[in-house]
Amino acid sequence: MPFSPLRHVDSIFMKRKPIHVTFFVTKICNAACPFCFYIWREDGPAPGELTLPEIDRMSKSLPNLLWLSFSGGEIFVRKDFPEIVETFYRNNKPVVMLFPTNGIMTSKIVDTMRRLCKSCPDSRLVAKISLDGPPEYHDKMRVVKGCYDKAMATYEGLADLLDEFPNFDLGVNTVLCSDNQDMVDGFIDTIAETMPRITTHTVSLARGDMPSPELKNVQLEKYKAAVLKLEERVKNRELPVYRFPGGKWKAAQDIVQRQLIFDTAQAEKRLSNCYAGTLNVVIAADGQVHPCEEFEMNMGNVKDHDFDVMKVLESPEAKQIKADIKAWKCHCTHECFMMTNTLFNPKMIPKIAKEYVKLKPKPTTPASS
Ligand code: SF4
Ligand code: SF4
Repeated sequence: MPFSPLRHVDSIFMKRKPIHVTFFVTKICNAACPFCFYIWREDGPAPGELTLPEIDRMSKSLPNLLWLSFSGGEIFVRKDFPEIVETFYRNNKPVVMLFPTNGIMTSKIVDTMRRLCKSCPDSRLVAKISLDGPPEYHDKMRVVKGCYDKAMATYEGLADLLDEFPNFDLGVNTVLCSDNQDMVDGFIDTIAETMPRITTHTVSLARGDMPSPELKNVQLEKYKAAVLKLEERVKNRELPVYRFPGGKWKAAQDIVQRQLIFDTAQAEKRLSNCYAGTLNVVIAADGQVHPCEEFEMNMGNVKDHDFDVMKVLESPEAKQIKADIKAWKCHCTHECFMMTNTLFNPKMIPKIAKEYVKLKPKPTTPASS
């Protein structure tokens, strides 16, 4: 069962090796959001991106993966992006691969996802389009005229792939910040009405070291209202869950995760174990390895360790960072790490199971192939 999620069940009890990797493929983006914590804002090329042969060496050092998230920058800007994905597919047999996109380059995104659905048939591929609010607001935040319309065209193109490929899923993510917190309730309805084929809609809190930090001043009650609305929809057959095996379990885990995010943000302290640096690893475009997206926690660069991520994780710097994390010296609300922190925490399993039995998702149409 090389691509089965079941091969990772032992990580609930033993945190031995990474199963969730986030790889920032590039710092370049064709948008310029004020809440972005990663893009290259200088003139000229971003320095030191790993090359495809270097990525191949690096991925060979990693074990088989449960979840592989690509990030950036805009991932589809990078010309050799399909080859990068296929390299990880070959070397790490990811169960799920996540492709977040601003949806601007419609034909490139749709063509690339079609190619990858064919070339990576045993992984589940999830494309997630970013949409933050009504067209005028969205275009202003992304600093791209017509960005919303382009994202909708990308949605139409990708929705067709749902019929062609059973290994494809399509979602929307909305970044919640102080500027759109009063419009998110209505916008959730807009997404449901205008994008009926999506299999998930998530809302994530603006995070990280961004140029406009005031955008992080979200009233937590508004976050809670938005996520409860999405939750109710999955309980009332109004919103589906991912089509991949375990999609309903993932939706139940999402509910527990959102509760944890709300409680953590309210308490302003860590409320659960964090497996960043052990089960989760973040690899930046230039090869720096971090436990999570707090980039000042720098464990070393694969370029200085024979492109071997496992060697980086054994460096003195990495050991110190992992010890600090284990000692609960930091906290955050970042969704990706909360995902692993809930899915692989034995104490959370009963809570997820309790939510699981309450879910009555909207049925989705299976792919024809
Ligand atoms: S689209 Fe994404 S990567 Fe690009 S600037 Fe906005 S948040 Fe950053
Ligand atoms: S709690 Fe947050 S900041 Fe700290 S290591 Fe975990 S993911 Fe990173």
